[in-house]
Amino acid sequence: MNQNWLVKLGTFFIKLFLFLHFPIKKLIKSTIFEQFCGGETIQECKQTIEQLQLGKIGTILDYSVEGEENEKSFQTTKHEILKTIQKAHENQSIPFAVFKMTGIFQAELLEEFQTESGLSEENEGAFQHSKDILLEICQLAHELNVRLFIDAEESWIQGTIDTLTYEMMARFNQKEAIIFNTFQMYRMDMLDNLKQAIAVAKEQHYFLGVKLVRGAYLEKERQRAHEEEYSEPLHKIKSDTDRDFNEGMLACLAAIECVNFCIGTHNEYSCRLLTEEMAKQQIPHNHHNIYFAQLLGMSDNISYNLAAAGYNVAKYVPYGPVESVMPYLFRRAEENSSIAGQTSREYTLLLNEVKRRKNA
Ligand SMILES: Cc1cc2nc3c(=O)[nH]c(=O)nc-3n(C[C@H](O)[C@H](O)[C@H](O)COP(=O)(O)OP(=O)(O)OC[C@H]3O[C@@H](n4cnc5c(N)ncnc54)[C@H](O)[C@@H]3O)c2cc1C
Repeated sequence: MNQNWLVKLGTFFIKLFLFLHFPIKKLIKSTIFEQFCGGETIQECKQTIEQLQLGKIGTILDYSVEGEENEKSFQTTKHEILKTIQKAHENQSIPFAVFKMTGIFQAELLEEFQTESGLSEENEGAFQHSKDILLEICQLAHELNVRLFIDAEESWIQGTIDTLTYEMMARFNQKEAIIFNTFQMYRMDMLDNLKQAIAVAKEQHYFLGVKLVRGAYLEKERQRAHEEEYSEPLHKIKSDTDRDFNEGMLACLAAIECVNFCIGTHNEYSCRLLTEEMAKQQIPHNHHNIYFAQLLGMSDNISYNLAAAGYNVAKYVPYGPVESVMPYLFRRAEENSSIAGQTSREYTLLLNEVKRRKNA
């Protein structure tokens, strides 16, 4: 994955072979799938959960089937999410559950809802049906006292996701933060949105659940803005994203009495900055309201060291049938392939460590 050309060629051929129904499942399962996923079912993730637990790292089971949009897949996803909530309730090493709205809503409806004209009458029934599923999921999380992340997605549907999530938060976060919204700090408007959300939660006396990330859909966002000729909602340069991420993190820390937050990042500087600020303010490492999270297969150096130092750490552990988690795996492959990507950084760290041991 350190080689850009190989990732491009590899993803092209995997897509082609899957389309042609070539028997490559075994090959995928023993390579890229094994690196980034826990298994095809919750049961198959058992070993990963236990292994992470040995390093004092929690697991966040992430049913990562994407791109299927029919009633059958919505029902399957709903049942799977309910199972992960139940599993988190039973297992101390699973501190959160997570899901994506597009797993239970048609993306088209989420998009239509946030347009100026709003939802058409003929789509209201289908939207309400998905909203009932959402309510059922949040209700179970609330009943079982399991904290629930709602992932952030593309900007053209995120407005609807925010609206729905705040509605759930106002309802279920009265005593503590159960429902968490995700804030993508690569968006120019997101730092203000976050500050506003903190103010509203204070004013309306509920707890704000925050997952802070930089954002995973950079290329897709830019391409769409270019094709449809509107101005990009994202920062132009990475350092602006970094600045807003760190500032957002500090804003959450400053409101820790009513904000429960998790930084989902592989960025060493952001993680270090948060630990330093916590030390300055004499906040205990394992404060209930502060979590660090990384993705399985990435940045173990950060996860294991933070956990060993007593901070709350968890890993997203994606799972699902091999063919259905491919969009997730392609995103990881692309994210890790660039020159500044995570794999290069980790590869260099590993090489240095090998050298150090040889010379020791
Ligand atoms: C636990 C966890 C949960 C996550 N949940 C979500 C989620 O719900 N929704 C979601 O969208 N993503 C999610 N992500 C992915 C996340 O948004 C990032 O894509 C990924 O973590 C890489 O960013 P980083 O903070 O680790 O670090 P870095 O490697 O330091 O930053 C890379 C990121 O910086 C930003 N960036 C890069 N170049 C530029 C540029 N030129 N201009 C502006 N910004 C730039 C992009 O967001 C890019 O992903 C999650 C990640 C984790 C670890």
